[in-house]
Amino acid sequence: MLIVRIPAARHKLPRRLDRIDAASDHRRMRAVPLSQIRGHRLQVRALQQVITGGRMGHAYLFEGTDAVGKRTLAWSVLARLACWSETPGDACGLCRSCRALQRGDHPDLVQLERDGTFIKIDQVREATARLKFEPVLGKIKGVLIDGAEGLKEEAANALLKTLEEPPPNTVFFLVTSRPQLLLPTIRSRCQVLRFGELASADLATLLQHEGHDPDAALAAAALAEGSLTAARALCDPDKLRIIDAIAEFAFELGSHTPAQAGGWTERLAGILNGEQPGEAAGRADFGRSELLLAVDALRAALRDAMLVACGHDPAGLPHARHAAAMRAMAARCDPDQIAKVLRLCESTEGRMNLNLGARMAWTELAVESSRLLGS
Ligand SMILES: [Zn+2]
Repeated sequence: MLIVRIPAARHKLPRRLDRIDAASDHRRMRAVPLSQIRGHRLQVRALQQVITGGRMGHAYLFEGTDAVGKRTLAWSVLARLACWSETPGDACGLCRSCRALQRGDHPDLVQLERDGTFIKIDQVREATARLKFEPVLGKIKGVLIDGAEGLKEEAANALLKTLEEPPPNTVFFLVTSRPQLLLPTIRSRCQVLRFGELASADLATLLQHEGHDPDAALAAAALAEGSLTAARALCDPDKLRIIDAIAEFAFELGSHTPAQAGGWTERLAGILNGEQPGEAAGRADFGRSELLLAVDALRAALRDAMLVACGHDPAGLPHARHAAAMRAMAARCDPDQIAKVLRLCESTEGRMNLNLGARMAWTELAVESSRLLGS
């Protein structure tokens, strides 16, 4: 099907359209084909089914864990709905709607996000004003509201009016990690899909797709607690150097004396200074955040070591590149010993978060870990 009234429809757009586009983020958004979305398999499948069956609702609320791809998925669904292809599956990438998305100037799909602290009533009014018109390039019109908990009350009420009487061929996506801050009346107008953390393997794959080294992607994903944003931040070379050095340290635990383990605070300072192994230890005053990262990295490494000690194959684990060291550790330590050190990591992290001598806490953790895992 072709749209035959594009010039006229363009003509009818509100004059402030340019401002809406500038305020929205959709120029930066890349629509990932639905079939390539990682994780959230149940949610993706449910959405694919309603798209294929032509049963799409007019408003959806994606709520749950922060930074796990809710907005990306919403944008992908909008891309598919706006696409003119009659073939089931992904958006075609060829029609005028798909091409406009690739250029980043689709006139029918708008994303709203906070302007400062809140999403303001003017933003909502400007976005909903264009919904009075027929779609210009796409099959539908769509509005994605990212961080919907930031809707100011009057903005939420303005949106509510549109949600109560939605214009035809319009789909709303509200995305939030804090659904308790939404007006109940807004929530009740939406079909709600909940999202949890991304699996570590999915995070690693996403990072590799973004060009990160496979080992770095695995190491960062193991510490990111299901958040893609956190995983991306952990791909920083300085952080990766700490994570990798701590993994080596973790799998050596129990094979050296507690005194050698205590010397690790100095070695850690050297790592932070970019020194190579064998160079003199640095005297940099490394901070609590680096030490918290070190504890996180130690815990992630020991989780894998415990699985190997329980008979798990190292090949599928985030620290698979340390398979030989993990097997050696599993041969000298039993799972109960490793579990004790994992509990010690928890209490050490608590002390560090309370700002109770982070460096001393790390030293004690290193010494005590070595003692607990020693034969
Ligand atoms: Zn298309």
